[in-house]
Amino acid sequence: MLEQNEREILDRVHAGLCIGGKWEPLTTEQTIDVQDPATGQIIKSISDATVDDAARALDAAAAAQSDWAATPSRQRSNILRRAFDLLIERKEDFALLMSMEMGKPIAEAHGEVAYGAEFLRWFSEEAVRVRGDYRANPEGTGTVVVSHIPVGPTYFITPWNFPLAMATRKIAPALAAGCTVVIKPAELTPLTTIFFAQLLAEAGLPAGVVNVVPTSNAAAQSSALLADPRLRKLSFTGSTPVGVKLMEAAAKNVLRTSMELGGNAPFIVFEDADLEQAVEGVLLAKFRNIGQACTAANRVIVHESIADEFVDRVSARVAAMSIGRGAHEGNDIGALINKAAVDSTARLVTDAVETGARVVTGGQPLDGPGHFFAPTVIDHLNPRAAMLREEIFGPVLGIIRFSTEHEAVEIANNTEYGLVSYVFTENIHRGHRMIERLETGMMGLNTGIVSNAAAPFGGVKHSGIGREGGFEGIHEFLSTKYTMIPR
Ligand code: NAD
Repeated sequence: MLEQNEREILDRVHAGLCIGGKWEPLTTEQTIDVQDPATGQIIKSISDATVDDAARALDAAAAAQSDWAATPSRQRSNILRRAFDLLIERKEDFALLMSMEMGKPIAEAHGEVAYGAEFLRWFSEEAVRVRGDYRANPEGTGTVVVSHIPVGPTYFITPWNFPLAMATRKIAPALAAGCTVVIKPAELTPLTTIFFAQLLAEAGLPAGVVNVVPTSNAAAQSSALLADPRLRKLSFTGSTPVGVKLMEAAAKNVLRTSMELGGNAPFIVFEDADLEQAVEGVLLAKFRNIGQACTAANRVIVHESIADEFVDRVSARVAAMSIGRGAHEGNDIGALINKAAVDSTARLVTDAVETGARVVTGGQPLDGPGHFFAPTVIDHLNPRAAMLREEIFGPVLGIIRFSTEHEAVEIANNTEYGLVSYVFTENIHRGHRMIERLETGMMGLNTGIVSNAAAPFGGVKHSGIGREGGFEGIHEFLSTKYTMIPR
């Protein structure tokens, strides 16, 4: 049963598509039924966009592109800043909506609103700071002028695990750069993106600049849009296998791409670490979002001399975690996104045990309704355990022990992924060595959280291409143009 305030927020979310600045009525013959993963209850039905709807959304984005690119950057900046202020004003509503459709604990949903909003503020500041360059050619016969122009209409595909932040991390820099947008949120969690698009309109965003087309047929929508000559860019956040398919399709249309893909983060605790800090760090890096984060610590690699104490301290904290519906205050662990997520987590735990690991706490799915899995600590992972290779995406912390620094680095780099690594050491020289040796796009040195709007988020290897946030973020949506002016 939904609470009164929950129903009120759901009623304020439009059920129809947002195309060309209009909110269309709900199409009743084809809907997406959004569920609360903690109860299985359908909380809202919304329009399921067809391929034709997506084409209309791109029509609108293409039609709005030149005016939006020509809009003074100060005006674009002001709209982003107003959107930031409105989002902060409505943080309670967004946090509750996200928690209802995705299952994350309400306290974490508040954290995501703060993080997601920060991209609006950061890129409102970056919008007016795009610089060019002016140089003489070496022959002395001319001037080289370098400027940056908007890439053009963009297509965004976002995942379900951070429904707000994954949208603002793309939309804010695109708008700052002068690009228009068609966005397809994950079909499991489309409500937050729709609600955010409503907020953008209130902030003064012109019609057609952002269009929202949730669909249950992502493959059909993406192949049609990626083949359209008017589209100039794809930005995707999601799993690596889907990302690879999308890159193949994007290649045929020579599209710019930004790909934020899967992770398999190593979390290394050296014998010289501050153990209490490492325990706090791993709890954050592992259990935030119920383990469903691309940045989640997937392989906890602990020096053998401190491993017993580390396991004792971590498992005492994990065993005390409270489990329940995320939207209710006070729960540390909410429901996983669906049954498939519970099954996949259970499969990885069973495999770990069968290959010789020991469950210290948790280890089981919990009775329904809803898709809950007990927060789990597993020790003595065998190097063959599947969870060392695959993203766990559940509240399971698996520990593997090491004896030398070289061995720790070998284990950490033994993956096709390269999103983020975490290192805990009090030795500054060792810390520096790890920055150079770990093959990841980001690193947390004595911290379990790296996400920050001012920093370039992104991976290497199969974790992706491109960066979101930081000074780099806006350049994903700008093309370099050079003009030769003879003397
Ligand atoms: P997913 O790849 O299944 O889905 C992501 C998005 O792609 C969804 O919107 C989905 O509808 C869409 N999609 C699925 N198949 C598609 C297809 N054939 N064509 C076009 N679109 C398609 O991933 P998920 O399960 O939603 O999200 C979890 C994954 O996302 C994990 O691998 C996680 O590591 C990754 N992720 C990465 C980052 C990052 O910044 N690197 C952030 C969050 C999540």
